Amino acid sequence: MITCSMCDNKKPLKKMKITHKYKESGLDNVTLIGVEYHRCDKCGEEYFGYGNLEKLNEAIAYILIRKKDFLAGGEVRFLRKHLGYSGTMFAKIIGYDDSTLTRLERGAQPITKAFDRLVRFTVASKLPDRNYDLHDQILKDGGMKLDRIELTSTAHGNWKLKAA
Ligand SMILES: [Zn+2]
Repeated sequence: MITCSMCDNKKPLKKMKITHKYKESGLDNVTLIGVEYHRCDKCGEEYFGYGNLEKLNEAIAYILIRKKDFLAGGEVRFLRKHLGYSGTMFAKIIGYDDSTLTRLERGAQPITKAFDRLVRFTVASKLPDRNYDLHDQILKDGGMKLDRIELTSTAHGNWKLKAA
């Protein structure tokens, strides 16, 4: 049970499970199903329980590098941030100018196939579990067709892609 930390309401807050647009990720097409949610009746403060945030973001990163279509600029930004890199650091690693990377992330410049691949392989090389073979996916023209991403919570604070 949790109580409100923003006001003097001492009553335990009622727990609910909700479906939540995960806008905090910077992505506008990610929906989380089964987020723990508490709201204080007195002051209106809201509390969201994402479980293990690192694992949630990692699950999204795995999904993004497996998508069939090119990454969108915002997805590149999400992946870069998930790896913990500033724009300057990531630009240096992939051999791009800062300003070009910024334009690509903002959607001000179209993402090319070569840039898309470069980002995916850079991300894949740093994720802890590399058993997914991106080479095979590309050679077989595979990948997941995704317009939106829906994740459901599982036991132990993990998240998995909801079957379409
Ligand atoms: Zn409150």
